[in-house]
Amino acid sequence: MKIIDRIKKCQEEGRPFFSFEYFSPKTVQGMINLQDRIERMCYLGPEFIDITWGAGGSRPAATLEVVSTAQKVYGVETCMHLICTNNPTDKIDKALNEARACGNENILALRGDAMQGETEWTACEGGLNYGSDLVRYIRKTHGDYFGIAVAGYPEKHEESATMEDDLKFLKDKVDAGADFIVTQLFFDVPKFLDWVKQCRAIGITCPIIPGVMPIQAYASFKKNTVDLSVPQWILDGIEPIKNDDQAIRAFGIEVGIKMTLELIEGGVCGIHYYTFNLERSTRLILEGAGLISKTDYIKKNMPWRPSFDEKR
Ligand code: FAD
Repeated sequence: MKIIDRIKKCQEEGRPFFSFEYFSPKTVQGMINLQDRIERMCYLGPEFIDITWGAGGSRPAATLEVVSTAQKVYGVETCMHLICTNNPTDKIDKALNEARACGNENILALRGDAMQGETEWTACEGGLNYGSDLVRYIRKTHGDYFGIAVAGYPEKHEESATMEDDLKFLKDKVDAGADFIVTQLFFDVPKFLDWVKQCRAIGITCPIIPGVMPIQAYASFKKNTVDLSVPQWILDGIEPIKNDDQAIRAFGIEVGIKMTLELIEGGVCGIHYYTFNLERSTRLILEGAGLISKTDYIKKNMPWRPSFDEKR
């Protein structure tokens, strides 16, 4: 089923949904761990999950394997990321055909990051230039078979000269045939809500799903927020505990719950969580925000624990 149809159903029911992103693993053990985790996290009831595509097309087989298992075995609607980086159209054709063969109907169409070790992005021979080109290519080669999502940047893509340019290119991707937008992670909720208004003002009408990254480690928080506006209360909370991993995770859950509640209050239709292939923080954020019930999770995942005290 197309994810856009699931989103529309949630909107009709006035029910905010959530979805999870996982990155495709690099090792056999990583694959085993991830599949196990996805199976468990499916019980939380995500509306869909996403699987990334490594820049450089390094391990497309891993992406396809996870997509295939999630879609066919766990029965969760799965969105496969597909990029232009080092991916000429014959490889794109192959990936799309393989996605179809395993029952996948949803693609997040991206230009992709620069190849590892390269500072500037360049198109490969026989390849495409922009996310919008990939959306057009998928529509040209597969018509309406796939639901298509594209990436949006509430704080502007780093290579765009101005926010105005960035919004214009985002609209270009939607006009090319994308059904909805998933955003880059951010921490400044008012800034995100203002950006959504700017999108609406230039005629972008499709669903926009905010991407939220649970803070799970100080180093990755710093790495991922270099160019982002981070509210002072988060900086004040995190700096004094930066050497205490457990305290960082607990604070990350607090931040995630607050952001989730503010986003829902701000009218978003759903929230996409960047899980970094980990379960606990995302699950506790969903519980804390009241989007899932702890008791349901225990009953589904640990039926052998009948004496579970529901008040704990
Ligand atoms: P585009 O929309 O093509 O834009 C790239 C740049 O070109 C922007 O600066 C834009 O303003 C500019 N531009 C666009 N169109 C034109 C035009 N017609 N003329 C001139 N300039 C133009 N990367 C991966 O490698 N694998 C993944 O799985 C992955 N998943 C992601 C998931 C999400 C939700 C997000 C937000 C990002 C993800 N990325 C992933 C990162 C993404 O590939 C990079 O941010 C990349 O640099 C931009 O991709 P895009 O599709 O948004 O680019």
